[in-house]
Amino acid sequence: MPLLRILLGLLLISVHAAPCLAATDTVSPGNGLAGSASRLVSNNSKFALGFFKMDSKSPNTYLGIWFNKVPKSKSAPLWSANGESPVVDPVSPELAISGDGNLVILEQATRSVIWSTRANITANSTIAVLLNNGNLVLQSSRNSSDIFWQSFDYPTDTLFAGAKIGWNKVTGLNRRLVSRKNVIDQAPGLYSLELALNGVGHLLWNSTVEYWSTGGWNGNSNSFGFAPEMIGNMMPNYKFVNNEEEVYFTYTMRDDNVIVHAGLDAFGRGFVRIWLDTVQDWLMTYRHPVLQCDVYAICGPFTICNDTVNLACSCMKGFSVRSPKDWELGDRRDGCIRNTPLDCASDPNKTGFTDKFYPMQSIRLPQDGNKVPAATSGDDCLQVCLGDCSCTAYSYGKGGCSVWHGKLYNSKQESEASSDGNGEILYTCLAAKELTSVATKKSGAAIGVAIGVAVSTTTAAVIIIILGLMFWRRKGKWFTRTIENAQGGMGIIAFRYVDLEQATKNFSEKLGGGSFGSVFKGYLGDSVTLAVKRLDGAHQGEKQFRAEVSSVGIIQHINLVRLIGFCCEGDKRLLVYEYMPNHSLDVHLFKANDIVLDWNRRYQIVIGVARGLAYLHSGCRDCIIHCDIKPENILLDASFVPKIADFGMAKVLGREFSHAMTTMRGTIGYLAPEWISGTAVTSKVDVYSYGMVLFEIISGRKNSSSQCFRDGDYSSFFPMQVARKLRSGDIGSLVDADLQGDVNLEEVERVCKVACWCIQENEFDRPTMTEVVQFLEGLSELNMPPLPRLLNAVTGGSPTSL
Ligand code: ADP
Ligand code: MG
Repeated sequence: MPLLRILLGLLLISVHAAPCLAATDTVSPGNGLAGSASRLVSNNSKFALGFFKMDSKSPNTYLGIWFNKVPKSKSAPLWSANGESPVVDPVSPELAISGDGNLVILEQATRSVIWSTRANITANSTIAVLLNNGNLVLQSSRNSSDIFWQSFDYPTDTLFAGAKIGWNKVTGLNRRLVSRKNVIDQAPGLYSLELALNGVGHLLWNSTVEYWSTGGWNGNSNSFGFAPEMIGNMMPNYKFVNNEEEVYFTYTMRDDNVIVHAGLDAFGRGFVRIWLDTVQDWLMTYRHPVLQCDVYAICGPFTICNDTVNLACSCMKGFSVRSPKDWELGDRRDGCIRNTPLDCASDPNKTGFTDKFYPMQSIRLPQDGNKVPAATSGDDCLQVCLGDCSCTAYSYGKGGCSVWHGKLYNSKQESEASSDGNGEILYTCLAAKELTSVATKKSGAAIGVAIGVAVSTTTAAVIIIILGLMFWRRKGKWFTRTIENAQGGMGIIAFRYVDLEQATKNFSEKLGGGSFGSVFKGYLGDSVTLAVKRLDGAHQGEKQFRAEVSSVGIIQHINLVRLIGFCCEGDKRLLVYEYMPNHSLDVHLFKANDIVLDWNRRYQIVIGVARGLAYLHSGCRDCIIHCDIKPENILLDASFVPKIADFGMAKVLGREFSHAMTTMRGTIGYLAPEWISGTAVTSKVDVYSYGMVLFEIISGRKNSSSQCFRDGDYSSFFPMQVARKLRSGDIGSLVDADLQGDVNLEEVERVCKVACWCIQENEFDRPTMTEVVQFLEGLSELNMPPLPRLLNAVTGGSPTSL
């Protein structure tokens, strides 16, 4: 009986004790925080602060802030106090207000101070409070506006909503984001995001080398021109201030319940991601630079960066990994070191060195080469490098002769297939021994290490994906999985069918239908609206479908619709896109719509679509031909920015695609003559279709509408009218009457010219989309286009009737 009583008593005590553990948001004198279970929680429950470890095997304990509602496993700390001085005590440390009023981390065993806010305290008593915006402030216990220190002034790698990045010009305080050393070490890394005193933002390596700049603040658009895109209604409010006292950038969310994480990752890339409660995962909405190899020195010296594999860094031939442990953790800053010293370096005075040059093909050349204009042949260039013992590499190509001294940073493997002349041959200087026998022990080991590392990073990625799929298959409490793409970043989400059923309210709100299926509106929670495309004709195998979808998912541009995710269950194939509130262009051009698209908007759409297509054709790694450019596939976001939809469908649908294409279309519409003649198609088919769309934007009517062929009079076919009127100089009469003459005639003329060049029958006469962009932006000129011969013939003109 006494035992039972004791047990009951204990039970009561623990029940009673529970509310004490329930979080408070304040640390006060005598009321510290100790142990890994205890933490502060902001009053609105959004943020939590406490001690944590990044890796259960590591002895390092940090004090940090994280999103309270995001499961630990998916969370990265948003702020950490003692990244440089972790507590290694086996007993958890304590957070307390010290005698001098500062907030300190104490080591339990020795009571020594590991970290302190080190503020100048002028109050008798202080408390530390975790505010609703995630700011930890040390303030007077009497007067909350007496603030002596705040975590927002010492950010780590995250920019909290409401926090500033930039300078206090009076005190010299510079709030900058600094990447963490690697994925488990909270020590500062080499990359930073900061504002210069003139207000321009930079991504820097080692505080010195800039690898990206925001450009100046644009007061008109209230953005840096890089403003991260958000989906749905989650556009943040941006603010930029530059006055005598301070220069800073900050943003606030319109809806504080939305969990947004904006920061700089350990690999030097800025990012913005949104937590989706419904699918319990992050959705990456912005990442810059998009390609990992564009981050300066990401692989360290004497390496080759390869963007086609999940951040693969490999050592150049003749070099091995310098710090294998760091390398494994993703911290490649030490790069690789030479296996065998150069003969030249051992005795620069002797003549007749044995060192040799090893050619590497299709390389984006390393940074900071020295041009040698005097060397006018490959051989000259080689001699220059050979004659200088500090020379480590040379290249002779498009830019003439360049030589490098010391460490080689930033070489990248360009893929041979798509290298549009970017890759060059880089000759690195190696000891003769490295080249003569690959079988020698040392260089064998070097290759072993290099390959070993490359294999292990890829294997890790594969394992992550496989694990993901396993969880996904189990359909337990794991709703969805994020599939990491080849760049290891912008993941797309694998949805379960039931979740999409729910999101679309059982596919009840149909947005439209086309040749490949129907599109439905869907909702994820309150904040994200989706467009879910149910594919009819995708009979591709699961594996291939997934592969194609993730390769399409990484293609991102302001003028392309974002692919958020997909679903692939049994024979069901669905694609999930961001929802475009202003629908497709056809709705605005052709339907009786109260609002007429004004000319300025039309011109912005013309340029935007050209940019999106130029990106598809040449900006991203593998050239993508859209094959289905038409107003229905040009969607408009909330600010009428045009976004091209349905790119990459050829990949996703496989053979089914060409079937659909050929059976559904083939009349005078948007299809280039090559489609009909059956010759191989190139990106110029898109140029043709784009041209056809331009005519419709000018006239506000379908090219094929019956008005154009009144009484079988094909000479009124609009593109033909344009071609003629360009010559007679009467283009004003061509423009959509609904605009009531409120147009910029110079721009109308440009669009007419572009359109006529784009629909030239011979694809070689058509411009590339990059040329179109340049012309529309006024950077180049276009001659008067000839009349399209085929159309002229079809519409009854004679070749000379200009
Ligand atoms: P098509 O492009 O041939 O019209 P689709 O099946 O691709 O056929 O799309 C049907 C319609 O659904 C489009 O015309 C467009 O109006 C609408 N739609 C497609 N994607 C989206 C989206 N992401 N946001 C809003 N509406 C969309
Ligand atoms: Mg479409």
